[in-house]
Order: sequence, then structure tokens, then C-alpha cells
Amino acid sequence: MKLWNHYHTPHSVDEAIDMLTRYAGQAKIVAGGTDLLVDMRAEYHGPHEALVDVTRIPDMAAITRDGDTITLGAGATHAQIVKSADLRANATCLVEGCGVIGGPQVRNVGTIGGNVAHALPAGDGTTSLVALDAEAEVIKDGIRQWLPIRDLFRGAGQSLLDSSRDLLIRFRFQPTTSGQATAFARIMRPQGVALPVLGCAVWVSVADGKFTGARVCVAPSAPIPMRAEDVEEVLLGAPANAESIEAAITTAQATLKLRTSKYRATADYRYEMVAVLLRKTLTKAVERAETGAAVPEGV
Ligand SMILES: Cc1cc2nc3c(=O)[nH]c(=O)nc-3n(C[C@H](O)[C@H](O)[C@H](O)COP(=O)(O)OP(=O)(O)OC[C@H]3O[C@@H](n4cnc5c(N)ncnc54)[C@H](O)[C@@H]3O)c2cc1C
Repeated sequence: MKLWNHYHTPHSVDEAIDMLTRYAGQAKIVAGGTDLLVDMRAEYHGPHEALVDVTRIPDMAAITRDGDTITLGAGATHAQIVKSADLRANATCLVEGCGVIGGPQVRNVGTIGGNVAHALPAGDGTTSLVALDAEAEVIKDGIRQWLPIRDLFRGAGQSLLDSSRDLLIRFRFQPTTSGQATAFARIMRPQGVALPVLGCAVWVSVADGKFTGARVCVAPSAPIPMRAEDVEEVLLGAPANAESIEAAITTAQATLKLRTSKYRATADYRYEMVAVLLRKTLTKAVERAETGAAVPEGV
């Protein structure tokens, strides 16, 4: 089965955009190909005219720090993210999320940009980027711009970006500082691939024994990855203890719209599991914020 006619490997963002423009919608961006090639085989409509491989663009693979901003290239692989000392210490939830994606083969080639651009409601790297309140640099309709990550999602599997024309270049977010920490956990069917039964990433800020900030992403809880704002509100200003975490869980169970999905879990099971995941991640994040020691689990 022939999947494409031409394969290009541009070495700069400008070159990639020139190629996409020349193909006028007939080419498709590919990164690790771990989502795209599965989809192309499953929905075969004949070969694509061209694939534009963005993994040879050095800028898009870099993980850099400039003061209080971490910049993460969309082409960075999950394996690269797991190895980054800065991300392990200061964006721990992202390392924990990317560290459980697929197996080593998938993590060695699959990218964070592909995870986000695929726009599934519960991509593990995406869930953590939402809790980190990341912004994304994109070229959309020819205009290079920074957008809040939430603006990239239009529906389940539907991105703002047309991946035959628009490019996701990089992400940026603030690393955790003193009194702040993050955590990620998920529940996956043992034989499951690709998406979890439920995933949860949290960011907390703790001072004088109280939550001075909280960001929570439980996914899937909607067609797009989104923050659980009612849960965040319950935590804000509350003592950073088990009682407040139980109150957050009660609010999550009352306000999140968890649904039954044919291949993964019933809504009832997800309502039970949201308690397990929030208890685990919030307790861990508070402990990390208070001790200043963040060692990613499971990776
Ligand atoms: C066996 C297996 C297990 C998996 N397990 C998990 C899992 O546990 N958790 C999970 O979240 N995912 C999982 N996945 C899904 C997949 O590996 C990830 O979503 C991965 O991050 C996709 O990245 P990629 O680079 O391979 O994307 P690709 O497949 O190359 O691209 C995906 C989509 O994004 C577009 N795209 C890619 N890069 C860009 C860019 N820079 N700009 C614009 N558009 C772009 C492509 O055109 C395509 O539409 C699994 C996949 C497999 C095959």
C-alpha cells in the first residue's frame, strides 16, 4: 500500500512552510508518525501527494530555558522530554505524562507536538501541558503567533491547525519555583494503547500551609482537554491538606462530565477513578511543593 508520493525533510521552519504552501493543502506534516501512519493505513484513500517531515528542524527539537520560561520544541520526542533534567525538576508532570506514552519505541520517535496536534481529548503529554498553562507558537494562516494551548482544540481529534498548511513550532511555560510543584497520574487498561481510561495532571502553589494556586486537568472530561476550574476554585485559599483534597474530589465528581466510552471505561468507573487520581496527584504535588524535592515517578 503506497501511503505517499513524495517525502520531504526541511531543515528550517521557513523551508517547511514554503513546502506546505507549494503543495497547497496536498501535503501533510509528519513528525514521529506514530498517530499519522496508523490513521493513514486505517482510512486509506490513496497516497498523500507529499509528507513534510518536521523532525530535522533543529529549532523545533530544542528544550531551552530563558530565565523563568522553558521553551519546548514541538518536535521534541517523549524520550527527550523524559531525559531533560530541567523538565524532571521543574515540569515534573510533563515528564510523568510523556514517560508513560506507549513503549520505548513510540517514545523514541513520538513527539509532544504530534500529541497536541492530534487533538485527542486525553493525550498524556497534552494533559500535562494544559496543567502547566502552556502557550503554543504556531504559524496559522501564514501568521506566526503565540496562543494559549486551550485555543488549539476544536473538538475530539479536531485541531485549530490544519496540518496540511499550519505548523506547531514550540511551547512555552513557566517552570515551577519554590513552593510550586506538579504531578501526573493515569489509569490505563493493561492491554490499552494510545489513550488512558483517565489521566490527571495538577500544578499547585503552596504558601503558609495553604493553596495559593491550583491548576487541574482531568482527561477525558470533555471532547477537548480542559481545566477543571470548579475544582481549582475549591482549592484556592484552602489549607493544603487531605480535607481540602477530599473537598476537591467531591467537587470533581459533582461537576465533571465523565462519560462512558465503548473501548475504555464506563462513566461510573471514571467517577470512582477521578477520586483515586486527584487524591494521588494533589497529595504528591503538595508534598513536592513543601519539600522542594520533585522526583518523577514511574520513569
Ligand atoms: C503503540 C502506540 C501506543 C501509544 N500510546 C500512547 C499513550 O499511552 N498516550 C498518548 O497520549 N498517546 C499514545 N500514542 C499516540 C502517539 O504516540 C502520540 O500521540 C505521539 O505523541 C504522536 O506524536 P507523533 O510525533 O508520532 O505524531 P504524528 O503521528 O507524526 O502526527 C500526529 C498528527 O499531528 C500532526 N502534526 C505532527 N507534528 C505537527 C506539527 N509540528 N505541526 C502541525 N501538525 C503536526 C500530523 O500531521 C498528524 O495529523 C500511542 C501510539 C501508538 C502507536
